[in-house]
Amino acid sequence: MGLRTADQYLKGLRDDRRVRYRGETVEDVVAHPELGLAARHASLDFALAERASHSDLAIRHDGDQPYSAYFQVPRTTDDLAARSALVEAATREGDTLVLLIKEIGTDALFALMRVLERYGLDEGQARVHEFHRHCRDGDLSLAVAQTDVKGDRSKGPSEQADPDLNLRVVETRDEGIVVRGAKSHTSCSPYVDELLVLPSRRMRPGEEDWAVAFAVPVDTPGLTLYAADFLHGDFSSFDRPVSSRHKMIETLTVFDDVLVPWDRVFLHGEAEAGGATALTFVEYHRFTAVSYKLPLLDALVGTAIAVAEANGIGRAGHVRDKLTWLAGYAETARGLIQLAAQRGDEESGIAYPDVFTTNLAKWTFARDIHYAFEVVQDLAGGLLVTGPSAVDWQAPEIRPILEKYLAAAWPAADRMAVMNLARDLTTDLYGGYQAVLALHAEGSLEAEKLQMYRAYDHEPALTYALGLAGLRDTQDDPTA
Ligand SMILES: Cc1cc2nc3c(=O)[nH]c(=O)nc-3n(C[C@H](O)[C@H](O)[C@H](O)COP(=O)(O)OP(=O)(O)OC[C@H]3O[C@@H](n4cnc5c(N)ncnc54)[C@H](O)[C@@H]3O)c2cc1C
Repeated sequence: MGLRTADQYLKGLRDDRRVRYRGETVEDVVAHPELGLAARHASLDFALAERASHSDLAIRHDGDQPYSAYFQVPRTTDDLAARSALVEAATREGDTLVLLIKEIGTDALFALMRVLERYGLDEGQARVHEFHRHCRDGDLSLAVAQTDVKGDRSKGPSEQADPDLNLRVVETRDEGIVVRGAKSHTSCSPYVDELLVLPSRRMRPGEEDWAVAFAVPVDTPGLTLYAADFLHGDFSSFDRPVSSRHKMIETLTVFDDVLVPWDRVFLHGEAEAGGATALTFVEYHRFTAVSYKLPLLDALVGTAIAVAEANGIGRAGHVRDKLTWLAGYAETARGLIQLAAQRGDEESGIAYPDVFTTNLAKWTFARDIHYAFEVVQDLAGGLLVTGPSAVDWQAPEIRPILEKYLAAAWPAADRMAVMNLARDLTTDLYGGYQAVLALHAEGSLEAEKLQMYRAYDHEPALTYALGLAGLRDTQDDPTA
């Protein structure tokens, strides 16, 4: 047992994994210019734990053995709050981009522990606990493949023209199960040790083959990762101060008749428990999600203030109004996620963030992210997309012209630095990636509203209103 260094984590990624990127097979993800950048970004997780200033947040002990705090099973609402603080601090380390190589995997493990216990699925439960110990003691990194490619959204897994559009069990053998299908948008999978697979939705009776949860090492035969190149490019730190150094990569994750040994099969053929696993995971994961959005929100507030000052408009009434909205937006998300922890459920042994408040936090954040970007762009002005490139900025004959004509309330160099930060955070590749990440990752806006509707206790408000209307007695209750 023990903590790994960033270097040990990166060395552990050199195995037989099959990763395809821009038409090529990647022999070594760490040596690859773009996947390697993403892996080094993720390795900040290990670097953070090594730092004495963060040890209280990032390290726990079992006896005298240290382990990564992500693997601590939350028992109390304070544990949930500490987990949120850890996710936020780690994302700050990633300069607004989540690291996500332990956050999402442990969300999935806690969900499986809760659901399998609730359904009395003891064998699966024992295997999850064993797998959790394996990951904790080896300080392993994990990706989670939940979202199926799904096919026609109006149809369930058993109604699709091709049954493989949702990952399913195609054979049961003495050694284990054989699975086929594809999961989409799997973050970080090319540069983690283990891939945890969960069902993505409720299953109907008859859809038992699709109700499956398991984990496999990423170099398992039959598993191929087709990596997205959305953030492709060789950027300068002048143009893109954040995304030239940080990157997260998603994959289309294809299982071509992959054999999963029984000791790695957590759930198999239990339709109802499969649906419960899907939902329980997303609640943990939305709690994680809002925690990891906070550094981006703080960066948006700070960037908006800085571009306004650089342009000399900091005192204008409309600017104060917009900055106040932006600060209120960031603090609403922060306050709601703290409340989701505080209101969490401790009763069942593994603490669980409050469902209504968690979804409200995620929905609030996602619903307004585009307006938050608009505020920053509004205050920054058109230089966001018409400013000089790094090449021009460094050219000795051009630089003096740019310094003369691009100066405003701040000197041109400082003004361009905050303009380019605003550009990186809210426009082109990284800004676009963050906007879609906010809207869709951890579930769409509608998914969050649906959970809010289900979790809200309508009764007290209705009873109160009926009382005010003079209809307090049940016999007079028109809704009864
Ligand atoms: C950057 C990024 C990283 C991600 N990382 C991961 C990851 O690590 N692991 C993972 O498992 N997933 C991951 N996701 C997936 C994420 O959870 C999904 O994007 C999300 O659940 C939405 O699914 P979808 O993209 O298939 O969109 P869709 O489900 O197709 O949604 C598109 C629209 O259709 C609507 N819709 C969908 N179904 C219906 C229906 N039946 N009836 C009416 N309306 C419907 C939705 O509300 C939405 O408005 C990631 C996504 C992104 C963008």
